[in-house]
Amino acid sequence: MTEATSVATINTDVVIIGGGVMGASIALELSKAGRKVVVIDKGGAAGAGSTSASSAIIRFTYSNFNTILMAWESAQYWYDWNNFVGVQDPDGMAKFVKTGYLVFLTEGYDGIRQRELWDQFGIPYEVLSPEEVRKRWPAFDTGKYYPPKSIEDPAFADDPYDQLSALFDPLSGFMDDPMLATHNLANAAKSYGAEFLFHKEVVQINSNNGAVTGVTLKSGEIFNAPTVINAAGPHAAKINRMAGVYDEMKVHHQPLRQEVFSPPAPVGFRLEDNAPIVADLDLGQYFRPHMGDLLNVGTTEPACDELHFIDDADDWNDSVTVEFFERVMLRLARRLPDFGVPLKLLGIGALYDVTDDWIPLYDKSSLNGFFMACGTSGNQFKNAPLVGKFIRALVEAQENGIDHDVTPVEFVGESTGNAINLAAFSRLRTQGVTAGNVMG
Ligand SMILES: Cc1cc2nc3c(=O)[nH]c(=O)nc-3n(C[C@H](O)[C@H](O)[C@H](O)COP(=O)(O)OP(=O)(O)OC[C@H]3O[C@@H](n4cnc5c(N)ncnc54)[C@H](O)[C@@H]3O)c2cc1C
Repeated sequence: MTEATSVATINTDVVIIGGGVMGASIALELSKAGRKVVVIDKGGAAGAGSTSASSAIIRFTYSNFNTILMAWESAQYWYDWNNFVGVQDPDGMAKFVKTGYLVFLTEGYDGIRQRELWDQFGIPYEVLSPEEVRKRWPAFDTGKYYPPKSIEDPAFADDPYDQLSALFDPLSGFMDDPMLATHNLANAAKSYGAEFLFHKEVVQINSNNGAVTGVTLKSGEIFNAPTVINAAGPHAAKINRMAGVYDEMKVHHQPLRQEVFSPPAPVGFRLEDNAPIVADLDLGQYFRPHMGDLLNVGTTEPACDELHFIDDADDWNDSVTVEFFERVMLRLARRLPDFGVPLKLLGIGALYDVTDDWIPLYDKSSLNGFFMACGTSGNQFKNAPLVGKFIRALVEAQENGIDHDVTPVEFVGESTGNAINLAAFSRLRTQGVTAGNVMG
């Protein structure tokens, strides 16, 4: 007698691949709208993927109208997080830490366009002279060293040849715990009936006659759904290839290996010193104060640093390297002269999912019912609350017979009343002017 093997087949309205901050936000919006949502994640917990490594900076310095507007609108939700989520998480709620954000004005970034756009949305800011910067935060060396150099370059040690002014916005900050914020979203989605399944890997996207029909898992289980959303973070390009939609995209995306460090903060640059988040394109770095008298430090992909794009998001080194550590720490010591370079490698390796123009992909695809929220390019944690709303708008448009490729969906921001044109995040977009790095 042969034993029949039965494979579970489950029917649902929506499958979301990935339970990071994007998948959890989308799950909340779609389950709130009355849909039966299943989130499938091959990891062990909500937000345990690239979200867990995030610096979680909430800022409004972007290159164009739509991207700034999106960040500004999303910030309003982070400021009022408990109300936005709407459900108290028994494990605690993430918190916004307001620090302000200081961008040094240097070659290639004079802040003029930024200020014009901020004026349109009423985002407050100050322009500070080098003296004003040092008066407010004596920990800074405001020297101009541009362009960023590798530490092997003898010119790295040159004295500054000028002084830097800066643009300061007082309303930026960071979320204290990006994984907890994701847990908060997942917890709220569950209260509307969403299911989160962990340690389950999607290995196939199923379709019929040009429309998605669901997914198959490594375990053999099949989930049938007319709507499937790719929120797989650095694995998203792999999922788009699985769905057969990658080649039709005009903007492509790929995992990029990064390292971020958490050394002790010097006195004068801790949270209690009112230290701001700093974007320092002059030296090719960003940093911010963190709880526990630490700093959080990363790079802004200066031209002198090689970019480490990788082919397989399942096969990479997640430890920090001495080479990267030394480079980042010595750059930081130029800007904060009292910073003592630590003797231990304190940091983590992580992956961004980077698009050709460093602007994300929030879109439908050529496969009916298959959507994507990916290509977040190391700068979209801050926009997660709106991404759920965007994807809901795109799903509803498709169901109403609107082809977003032809008639772009607009989303009117609740805070500003301005329309955000979702064509800005289309996979078919013509690439405009962007920062070309993590600044977006
Ligand atoms: C080091 C670092 C610093 C950053 N700093 C900032 C910042 O300061 N501000 C900001 O706004 N943004 C920042 N970002 C970007 C932001 O954190 C990311 O854009 C965001 O967290 C991505 O979330 P996600 O849900 O798309 O991806 P993830 O959190 O990676 O979630 C994707 C999930 O998909 C799952 N998955 C993948 N493949 C499969 C499969 N086949 N089957 C089932 N599940 C699968 C994974 O297990 C994972 O849990 C940073 C990112 C990094 C890495």
